[in-house]
Amino acid sequence: MIDNFEELGLNPELVSAVTELGFEKPTPVQETVIPKQLDEDGDIVCLAQTGTGKTAAFGLPLIQTMNQDSLDTQVLILCPTRELCRQISDDLNSYAKYSKGFKLVAVYGGSNIEQQIRSLRKGANVIVATPGRMVDLIERKVADLSLVNRLILDEADEMLNMGFKEELDAIVSHCPENRRTLLFSATLPSEVEGIAKKYMYRPEIITIGKRNQGAENVKHYFYLVEAKNRYLALKRIVDFNPHIYGIVFCRTRQETQEIADSLIRDGYNAEALHGELSQTQRDWVMSRFRNKTLSLLVATDVAARGIDVSDLTHVINYNLPDEPEQYTHRSGRTGRADKTGISIAIINTREKSKIKRIEKILGKTFAQAKVPTGKEVCSKQLFNLIDQIENTEVKEEINEYMSVVESKWSYLSKEDIIRRVLSIEFNRFLEYYKHAPDLNVPEGPVKSEEKVQKAKDPEKGYTWIRLNTGTRRGITPRQIIRLMTACGLGKKGIGRIELYNDFTLIEVSSRAANTIAEQLNGSSYRGKRLVAQVG
Ligand code: ADP
Ligand code: MG
Repeated sequence: MIDNFEELGLNPELVSAVTELGFEKPTPVQETVIPKQLDEDGDIVCLAQTGTGKTAAFGLPLIQTMNQDSLDTQVLILCPTRELCRQISDDLNSYAKYSKGFKLVAVYGGSNIEQQIRSLRKGANVIVATPGRMVDLIERKVADLSLVNRLILDEADEMLNMGFKEELDAIVSHCPENRRTLLFSATLPSEVEGIAKKYMYRPEIITIGKRNQGAENVKHYFYLVEAKNRYLALKRIVDFNPHIYGIVFCRTRQETQEIADSLIRDGYNAEALHGELSQTQRDWVMSRFRNKTLSLLVATDVAARGIDVSDLTHVINYNLPDEPEQYTHRSGRTGRADKTGISIAIINTREKSKIKRIEKILGKTFAQAKVPTGKEVCSKQLFNLIDQIENTEVKEEINEYMSVVESKWSYLSKEDIIRRVLSIEFNRFLEYYKHAPDLNVPEGPVKSEEKVQKAKDPEKGYTWIRLNTGTRRGITPRQIIRLMTACGLGKKGIGRIELYNDFTLIEVSSRAANTIAEQLNGSSYRGKRLVAQVG
């Protein structure tokens, strides 16, 4: 176990810089990958989940080993989004605080290219880029990659998800063959394996933690609701967590905007983040989210990718991602820095199989949580309000008004005053949740008995028998058939069989119906005294 940065072989300037950032000891990724870059030459594929400290894992050794006396571009870092470009560039600049010759230029789309060209012309020994913009700059002959000796592909899986394959091909073809290539990714889908084979020479594959595993201290819950109640369930969950600071993930830009708009309309402190917003809007939203003026960020995967906000309380999957692996990225944004995080999926009954698939990838199970009832939300909010009142700072200045207030309220008892003060905030919850229905979907096939029986006419020549036992006792169609044949009914005499939680409908030949019912009545099956009704 290495527990400081010196032991990894980093020089004193870098050690001081990271110490000032509050890094006390290397993370497992850093502990493994930093020495390899300092002491060995080979290519590396590093698989580690989000938030494990990959930026410093590749950033620190590159700063140490590059030639800082030269302004030739020696290092190229590619990553999927503009936000990540900026984040990597900020991080690396802070690590290089005491490394005088370090000159990094970040180039990304959606930003003035002329300005980026001017910066590149002044010289950059490190370039951080999004693939699209990089290709553009190569074509304009502004960036010269012929002396690059280290290529870093950060969030490689996401770059491929975003369709940057061709750009990557083009960029790599401009880098020298004898470069060193490092690939970082949270997951290893076959596309990533493909580019590792193509661009890298016998890479060493390093997996930190179990591959694809969710962060240790994240708890996973799902809420089972009808699809039409998804939004209502989201509101309840948010209302039940008054101090929530989280990201609500949606599947499309449109959904993201719709949900954010609805939340804002309903009085929540939320904003949307997706690719159709202007850069200024995105920056504004992100800065408000980072400084916690904003408590809910409603976002698409792409927009939220790589954004490093470390102390989210919740990640909410308003809709599960199409690819189960994406769930890992989403949930990996909470539970960082030793804090417990909660990752929530709001699903309908048809999506339970998705949960199963995600559980396999995570190597962890979800617990089913109940959507809080209106009453539960109200009492949670009330206690929060009480806490708030208790912890409110009381300033001296209020004293001069106290006598006026006291005389004005002299006819009110202490209890009356408390009730009124609480009601200021509390009324809207009481009002909203007054007739709030239960949003949870009960387990098992749910159809109301009445609806079922009305809906079904028997086939010609058949009659329904209703038997008072069902799936809750583990009854299967095969057992029903056996039971019927035991009563002397041939296979042809049995029609449709419909199993419900507590009863079963069996179509039997009309001629035999009464005899069968007689035989069944009063007998017992799997510990239950049977009652069979005909028709
Ligand atoms: P990744 O790229 O693996 O998702 P980052 O490199 O963005 O993760 O790091 C996640 C967070 O952890 C950042 O806020 C970073 O400053 C912090 N961090 C990285 N290494 C350390 C360390 N050794 N000690 C403390 N914090 C660290
Ligand atoms: Mg990263």
